[in-house]
Amino acid sequence: MNRKPYPLRMCIGCRERFFKTDLRRYTLDAGAVTREDPEQLAPGRGFYVCAKAECAGKLQKRLARQDRQRTALKRADAAKNAQGSQGHE
Ligand SMILES: [Zn+2]
Repeated sequence: MNRKPYPLRMCIGCRERFFKTDLRRYTLDAGAVTREDPEQLAPGRGFYVCAKAECAGKLQKRLARQDRQRTALKRADAAKNAQGSQGHE
């Protein structure tokens, strides 16, 4: 028997592979904001997390880190702009 393989996706927490239907999908929208994608159809970069509490926790940490990086980038930009107003290139 040659069964067609079901789509498997890797959980970003434990790196195990699961059926897509057993995972929650998240995508990054244009503003690099992570949002849940219940239909698993949204275009763009997506990632998957399995149902384990441990992996949900890893996702939360990852999102928190992304938030901090975004904030840091914004601050760096603001600092650059402030320096730029001194006329240096
Ligand atoms: Zn997992």
